[in-house]
Amino acid sequence: MNATGPVNGLSVDVEDWFQVGAFETVIAKDDWPRLADRVERNCDAILALFDAGGVKGTFFTLGWVAERHPALMRRIVDAGHEIASHGWDHDRVFRLGAAAFREDLVRSRKAIEDAAGTPVTGYRAPSFSIDARTPWAFEVLAEQGYAYSSSVAPVVHDHYGWREAPRFAFHPLPGSDLIEIPVTTALFAGRRLAAGGGGFFRVLPYGFSRWAIRQVNREGRPAVFYFHPWEIDAAQPRVDNAPLRSRIRHYTNLAVMEAKLRQLVAEFRWGRMDDLAARESARAMRLAA
Ligand SMILES: [Zn+2]
Repeated sequence: MNATGPVNGLSVDVEDWFQVGAFETVIAKDDWPRLADRVERNCDAILALFDAGGVKGTFFTLGWVAERHPALMRRIVDAGHEIASHGWDHDRVFRLGAAAFREDLVRSRKAIEDAAGTPVTGYRAPSFSIDARTPWAFEVLAEQGYAYSSSVAPVVHDHYGWREAPRFAFHPLPGSDLIEIPVTTALFAGRRLAAGGGGFFRVLPYGFSRWAIRQVNREGRPAVFYFHPWEIDAAQPRVDNAPLRSRIRHYTNLAVMEAKLRQLVAEFRWGRMDDLAARESARAMRLAA
């Protein structure tokens, strides 16, 4: 590997195919335990892919998944990756309110730490749901002792987004070390484009993501990339009664995702989100000094 440039953040949002926001209107949470469990085999494929590429990353995991898959959690940690929190069962932060958000953080962290055997210091909100509607969210994260969050999409999108948020790492609370690391956006004709992965990476040609990450790295800043275990799983059960738009987004290009990920892993430098958070905090301190 001969990649150069800043070390970017590589992350996996660990949830199963039936837990995605796109299917929430047609799959009830009560049905989750009865549905085909694919997350473990998919995460093992990701671990093999990361190992082959010689990269480490962060697995933002649902507490619901960690409780059911303790051996997987330990395999992830043993391979040198970070385990962090993606909340309990994918409730969006703006739907919870401060008190329920606190409960969700406590419950998910305990399940993840018990399963993984390591402390959790990072958090990613389900569907990047920390935005202008949740001014209390960072205070709750700081109070709960989190070192960093990667929960903001500083862009406009039909399901999420916080248009006015900074594009790069920022300290959201005065007097607190908590740092927020937004998912990557690229600039095109003065507009911000979501370019941090997920469906955009899978659906659009690989060249779009390469262009976006190169642009961010040329600015001297790290990109933050994310994807999901179900995105490499072409054999997952089909949800035929979901809205057409959701089905198109969810099922497009599953079969080519692994090959694209291998290219991405080889072409850029990647590391864990907690390490990236520490570097960004040090950078902010240097600039403030
Ligand atoms: Zn998620």
